[in-house]
Amino acid sequence: MTVSTDLKNRHLAAVAQGVSSRQIYAERAENAELWDVDGRRFIDFAAGIAVNNTGHRHPKLVAAVSEQLEKFTHTCFHVAPYENYVALAERLNASTPGDFDKKTMLVTTGAEAVENAVKMARAYTGRSGVIAFSGAFHGRTLMGMALCGKVLPYKKKFGAMPPEVHHAPFPNEVHGISVKDSIDALERMFMSTIDPERVAAFIVEPVQGEGGFNIAPTEFLQQLRAIADKHGILLIADEVQTGIARTGKLFAMEHSGVAADLVTMAKGLAGGFPLSAVTGRAEVVDAAPVGGIGGTYAGNPLAVAAANAVFEVIEEEQLCDKAQAVGEAIQARLNSIAARSGMEVIADVRGLGAMVAFELIDAETKAPNAAMTQAIVAGAEARGLIILPCGTYGNVVRLLPPLTTPMEQVEEALDILDAVISDVVAG
Ligand code: PMP
Repeated sequence: MTVSTDLKNRHLAAVAQGVSSRQIYAERAENAELWDVDGRRFIDFAAGIAVNNTGHRHPKLVAAVSEQLEKFTHTCFHVAPYENYVALAERLNASTPGDFDKKTMLVTTGAEAVENAVKMARAYTGRSGVIAFSGAFHGRTLMGMALCGKVLPYKKKFGAMPPEVHHAPFPNEVHGISVKDSIDALERMFMSTIDPERVAAFIVEPVQGEGGFNIAPTEFLQQLRAIADKHGILLIADEVQTGIARTGKLFAMEHSGVAADLVTMAKGLAGGFPLSAVTGRAEVVDAAPVGGIGGTYAGNPLAVAAANAVFEVIEEEQLCDKAQAVGEAIQARLNSIAARSGMEVIADVRGLGAMVAFELIDAETKAPNAAMTQAIVAGAEARGLIILPCGTYGNVVRLLPPLTTPMEQVEEALDILDAVISDVVAG
């Protein structure tokens, strides 16, 4: 029996089954490589789900966290605040899109950032409605779950959702939903379902992550902004997966030129330490009454030290440009695979920066092909490449390499993927 198999048995007996997981038991990791407890080596194109944008154990992060470890590890910001939290807030206020005064709060997870953004929007507008989109993912807390635009597995069995959370269709050309369809449905919702004057916020991912790497068209974000302004509704950009240089810009909203009122971020923010943030218009952030937001661990000093180091690394190593270059290399290879004969199963190759995906269909029926997606993900794992599925229909393979991945490892990963796709398609 391998060490992994033994561990899997203990895992199955001891850990909640609702916490899904693969059988890659990590032993150590360095930049884009990960070794498991059986000594198998992987190229990690999941990056902890878009978290290790600066790679595993970047020396600058390790040094910054070690230095903080020698000073203090926790005081609770509400009790004894610290400078590096303030410095990170200043940095986020200056670097998120939007030419207006901003303020920031730090919390711990992406879902928590979403919860707090909704609380701020409600406090500022005095309204309670929130409109999200089909296929969206915003977290697993009660409001986060309600905002998700997918029932299985996020909402099934979990009871009543909070009221006044509605979903409009997210535009998706591949699935036949145009920007016009989406905006028309939103306008109809204002006639049939909720008075726009009751709506506090729209929440949108500039590129849907779990939903299948669906890129929000610029004209969609522009129209959403205009509708929001018309009705006094706030726009929340959920950049938890897209933020922090992943898409070739520090924030994905920069691609559209549209500034949200509030931005949520997490994942890449602290390069593997649990940290999230809400940054936005100062008057909106400050609408939450004193003591109404925060938390015991919110803005943990070790995670904050890591986050400040992440921003330095992004600048020093020009990781936005790197994201672009890595993404282009991946898209070029995927497009050449998709162009080969017999590859009609690849219905679409898409991406923004180093957030790249391909969508799989059945060659005959054109139906989403979740089985083939699973086979490719498993085949890649067997050959030493970690990749992830996503998509409302489970038929999208997503690639999220660390932005620091050396180009030879990008090529090595693409060779593996190429071989795996060929094998799976050949049956
Ligand atoms: N929003 C988006 C866009 C996400 O991709 C995720 C995580 N996949 C979340 C929110 C929730 O983040 P967390 O898992 O840290 O709560």
